[in-house]
Amino acid sequence: MRDPRHDILFEPIAIGPVTAPNRFYQVPHCNGMGRTFPNAMIAMRETKAEGGWGIVATEQCDFHVTSDILPYTETNLFDEGDELYLGRMVEGVHRHGSLASIELAHSGQDSGNLYSREVPIGPAHRPVSASRHPIQARAMDRADIADYRRWHRRAALRSRDMGFDMVVVYAGHNNTVPGQFFYKRHNDRSDEYGGSLENRLRLLRALIEDTKDAVGDTMAVVVRMAVDELMGPDGLEWQNEGREAIEMLAELPDLWDLTIGNWANDSQTSRFAAEGYQEDYVSFVKKVTSKPVAIVGRYTSPDAMVSAIRRGVTDLIGAARPSIADPFLPNKIAEGRSDDIRECIGCNICAAWNNLSAPSRCTQNPTFGEEWRKGWHPERVAPAAAQSHILIVGAGPAGLEAARTAGLAGYRVTLAEASDSLGGRVSREARLPGLSEWARVRDYRTGQIAQMANVDVFQASRLDAAHILEMGAEHVALATGSTWRRDGMGLTLRSPVPVTTGSRPLTPDDIMAGQRTPDGPVVIFDDDGYYMASVLAELMAAEGRETWLATPATVIAPWTEYTLEQQAIEERLATHGVTMLVRHTLLSFGDGEAVFRDGLARRDRRIACAGVISVTARLPEDDLWLALNGSAELEKAGIRSLKRIGDCFGPGLIAAAVYQGHRYVRELDAPIDPDGVPFRRERQVIEAS
Ligand code: ADP
Ligand code: SF4
Repeated sequence: MRDPRHDILFEPIAIGPVTAPNRFYQVPHCNGMGRTFPNAMIAMRETKAEGGWGIVATEQCDFHVTSDILPYTETNLFDEGDELYLGRMVEGVHRHGSLASIELAHSGQDSGNLYSREVPIGPAHRPVSASRHPIQARAMDRADIADYRRWHRRAALRSRDMGFDMVVVYAGHNNTVPGQFFYKRHNDRSDEYGGSLENRLRLLRALIEDTKDAVGDTMAVVVRMAVDELMGPDGLEWQNEGREAIEMLAELPDLWDLTIGNWANDSQTSRFAAEGYQEDYVSFVKKVTSKPVAIVGRYTSPDAMVSAIRRGVTDLIGAARPSIADPFLPNKIAEGRSDDIRECIGCNICAAWNNLSAPSRCTQNPTFGEEWRKGWHPERVAPAAAQSHILIVGAGPAGLEAARTAGLAGYRVTLAEASDSLGGRVSREARLPGLSEWARVRDYRTGQIAQMANVDVFQASRLDAAHILEMGAEHVALATGSTWRRDGMGLTLRSPVPVTTGSRPLTPDDIMAGQRTPDGPVVIFDDDGYYMASVLAELMAAEGRETWLATPATVIAPWTEYTLEQQAIEERLATHGVTMLVRHTLLSFGDGEAVFRDGLARRDRRIACAGVISVTARLPEDDLWLALNGSAELEKAGIRSLKRIGDCFGPGLIAAAVYQGHRYVRELDAPIDPDGVPFRRERQVIEAS
């Protein structure tokens, strides 16, 4: 039964001419599927509607070839040929009684038009900002503006004809034309579209009015808009033009969908922002408009959602990531099962895959993006074909997810963990600065497993090969994890770093186990490129050590550009007084110094230090595999299959370990042909010759 305190989340709400069935709004979000992997995108959106999201929106939908934003894969509506897949998405969403919304976008000076080869357009002559292309956008003249309005209007009409219920006029995130006209730093025009705030908002106002005029009798017209850019006076601030703009347009849209810009600020990770982090910037809006308001802020707690509505901050709970991590979040609250919510951990792996132009992935939800191509449902698995007994060795993310999924399928499961706590690497890493929410990977799974009578969990139970043979299991999954290398080998160094005295570099495992380098300056060598080195640098600096972070890469923590964290990481390390060196490769360590090769200056550099922490690569913990694989003892013990999953198989992201744990169970009774492709593929239509 639903908790009556959460009833307000299920009250319908009128938005212009349509009514949303509840307050759960899956806001437009990129997913790396879009037009390139349309079947995957359609099934993913339908799953959200099935899970109870009252409004399900497309991602950015580019409505003219002057905005093609390749290599990113969003949706587009360039001509009627695009109506088929978008229409299918509408059908999928409507099947579950939800409203379908489309976000009409034109990236203007943010699109290099690599595919269409059209000259990019924008409010002024400016270099194209995305990917630092050596391409310029040209300033739109009045005829261009008239064309632009016509394209937008036509797209709105097409959206209506496809059955969409809502249309978003998109001026958020500093990456679309009406927003670019609005921001002072992009707009130095001297005509009626530049100068005063009223002039800079003229195009946005016209687009809202055009859209209302074209489709407003049947469709809700939403404005998605940023009110602050977290740049202080160099950008938009909610206290001045952010607020004034909303006041000037207050009653025009049917719904205000608010964000802060740019995307990195809007989708901050849990390392940098807590649930509800946008409230301080957007809470004024409801005071200046009578129209409904939606906000985002990585809400996963129904109590926090209810509070935001009751405090008059918002009417709708917007969510991208929480809806990815748990497409069934609304239904779980409706059924009084809030404890079953698979809470987003705020890691932005989903954003990273999109930024890599690949179908998005989720750390918490291994089925995300697999709904169509593998037929995986986030809440259901096929029942076990036989009542087999599965032994899972190791309770990190891979072992826990395998145990949860196998338990759900009805297998008899034994999960054995060597240490006296569950969670493996997530439990260790969640104790590092800023990563506490990552423990949700463990907590969701241990919470589910605790409800399963068919899953037995043994802690403080290190198994050796003999134990495994004695357990009477038919299937054994080795999820024993990995350890960080100590020898400095990784992406750049292909042979071990010479150590000239007895003191060897420490590894992240050592630091997480409480070891420290001797007193004095510490140098962290990062050839991993993701979060670990910067988190350890933060920790060392917070402990009062003189800290250096050196990397062969051209920026600090280069892979975090994909997770939208790179700048925030640099800023935080600078605040902590960490000295950062790029293009520096470790040559040797010992005698109180580390020697680096400075790749830019092309000379060696000696840094006096008491210790080095090496963050480069990991090796699998596969002793059990080496002992048991191919052994005749397996058959004698009745073991029909022995598999490695997670980091034990191939060290990687937490998301990869969770995925492998899940996949292991899905494929146990339905083995995949190793010579084939283990998923359905999207096919291009080839024109008849
Ligand atoms: P993954 O990310 O693949 O899940 P982790 O390193 O997070 O890997 O977790 C591996 C877990 O396996 C750790 O908690 C570790 O204590 C446990 N483990 C390793 N060897 C054994 C063993 N022989 N018996 C039981 N548990 C083990
Ligand atoms: Fe949340 Fe991470 Fe999943 Fe994205 S990948 S939805 S941030 S848990």
